[in-house]
Amino acid sequence: MKIITKVNTLREEIHHHKQSGGTIGFVPTMGYLHDGHLSLIKEARNNNDIVVMSIFVNPLQFGPNEDFDRYPRNIERDLKLAENADVDILFMPDSEEMYPGTLSVAMNVKERVHVLCGKKREGHFDGVVTVLTKLFHLVQPRRAYFGLKDAQQVAVVEGLVDDYFFPVEIVRVRTVREEDGLAKSSRNVYLSEEERNEAPAIYESLRGAKKKIESGEVNTSAIISDVKEFIHNMTSGQVEYVEIFTFPELTPFHEWNGEIILAIAVQFQKARLIDNIIISLDKKENQHV
Ligand code: AMP
Repeated sequence: MKIITKVNTLREEIHHHKQSGGTIGFVPTMGYLHDGHLSLIKEARNNNDIVVMSIFVNPLQFGPNEDFDRYPRNIERDLKLAENADVDILFMPDSEEMYPGTLSVAMNVKERVHVLCGKKREGHFDGVVTVLTKLFHLVQPRRAYFGLKDAQQVAVVEGLVDDYFFPVEIVRVRTVREEDGLAKSSRNVYLSEEERNEAPAIYESLRGAKKKIESGEVNTSAIISDVKEFIHNMTSGQVEYVEIFTFPELTPFHEWNGEIILAIAVQFQKARLIDNIIISLDKKENQHV
């Protein structure tokens, strides 16, 4: 595995690989790797000639009161995991390398950001598309891999790639969970022992709602308030949102067909956890929400 920290070195390395005509699979991350990240790498490994992973905690996507400074980091461990997962190139730039000066052109996401996490995390997705645009241009991947745990991110990135004709296929990867259902996340380390025991209730609430929808419940307000009540009863966390939208458009829907997302964010003492479930519905004519 080649470890690269400089933009110019990465450019040279990518140029070299492009000449051999092989495909590049790209896995962008913020490090502190877990099985979720590893499943992205595995998919990339299976479908491309080489795998490039980036580890970069992108300051632009953190708000002033968010956890940029205390975001968990363990480079030694990450290097071992990446090496074992057969990553070919690990790109680990510092902030100075990615943002050497002020940007003369800013990116601003217009759609898919006024709901879910985008409502509270103002500017977050602008930071995400900015860094990904830089990374896509540098890495020039044939495919890039994103976890559905961050479903709004997938939706926004698909919008970016479609709107601006990026020559990259976005591959959605299903959420990897702990045995008790909690979605794996670098931020789970912020949970106290008690909160960790409560946290599987998040996925349980989503599964319960999915069952109701699949057995014919069409009242979204009732579904949402049941989920909120379940979280309130089972955890000490505060529900930030529970919302249902079409996926990936993230718009309110009026007919029960196509793909919908039921998404949740719960604030614990030090950890804000998100999760979601995407449900494919058969067309049920004339059933309005
Ligand atoms: P992060 O390091 O948190 O920015 O995540 C890097 C990539 O890993 C993103 O595409 C995430 O959606 C994905 N990811 C994070 N957690 C999981 C998970 N539990 N299952 C699948 N993918 C995940």
